[in-house]
Amino acid sequence: MEVLSQNGAKPGLAVIIVEGDSASRIYVNNKKKACAEVGINSEEYALPSDVSEDELLKLIDTLNKRDDIDGILVQLPLPRHIDEEKIIMAIDPKKDVDAFHPVNTGKIMIGNFDFLPCTPAGVMELIHESGIQVQGKDAVVIGRSNIVGKPMAMLLLHESATVTVCHSKTQDLKQKVKNADIVVAAVGRANFVTADMVKDGAVVIDVGINRTEEGLRGDVDFDAVSEVAGAITPVPGGVGPMTIAMLMRNTVTSFKLRDIR
Ligand code: NAD
Repeated sequence: MEVLSQNGAKPGLAVIIVEGDSASRIYVNNKKKACAEVGINSEEYALPSDVSEDELLKLIDTLNKRDDIDGILVQLPLPRHIDEEKIIMAIDPKKDVDAFHPVNTGKIMIGNFDFLPCTPAGVMELIHESGIQVQGKDAVVIGRSNIVGKPMAMLLLHESATVTVCHSKTQDLKQKVKNADIVVAAVGRANFVTADMVKDGAVVIDVGINRTEEGLRGDVDFDAVSEVAGAITPVPGGVGPMTIAMLMRNTVTSFKLRDIR
């Protein structure tokens, strides 16, 4: 990746983690490592698990006002005593490099955005780089979360796929997936997508990260599904690194807009 600086200034990313979740710690460390590799200044704010909502809001307010900070990321999930929505709402949308703020999710809806949420953006990048056509294809997104499933469906729709969003209440899920040219799995259950659910030659993108006794697994039964799929992403090593790359891209985008912020 390109190393950046603008009149001696470097992009700045503030990463806030409320300690307690071991997976969050791994994600934050990976993000910091990527920042160092591409030349982004990263600042970590590691807060104790009993930090108050007010303290967190005050920190975000300080970071919102700092010119040298281009991106603010609050690693989710947060402890129960903190209102996640309130925290996301407090981040300046211009520094919201995760693109979770309603201003940014609204912009994504109308297709006019500065930032895209990192995981769906990473999936689209994989699709583009692999030369896969999206227009006119039938796509199934399994999962409807605000951070993955819903924006994923929107990005595929913007590129003229016909999108079906499946979720925990979906009837005949297998039949719907079997019909799809592109399947994006974001469920959070190991081996959820099996070979009998996948159409021959389909593109299968596995967003899931599941910690199992056999190690890290995606939502897709990789070995069996790769026998039928035309293209498939592994876990680990597929969407995960792309998510981090998109975070770097969003931070650089914000840095470039620093003067007009
Ligand atoms: P989530 O728990 O918020 O959402 C899971 C979705 O799966 C829900 O919308 C639910 O309706 C759906 N679902 C649950 N059971 C189902 C069933 N039986 N049939 C159909 N749908 C069902 O999770 P999330 O935050 O969207 O994350 C999904 C997965 O992606 C997790 O494993 C998470 O760790 C992973 N993830 C990976 C990255 C990455 O960088 N690779 C980023 C974010 C999330």
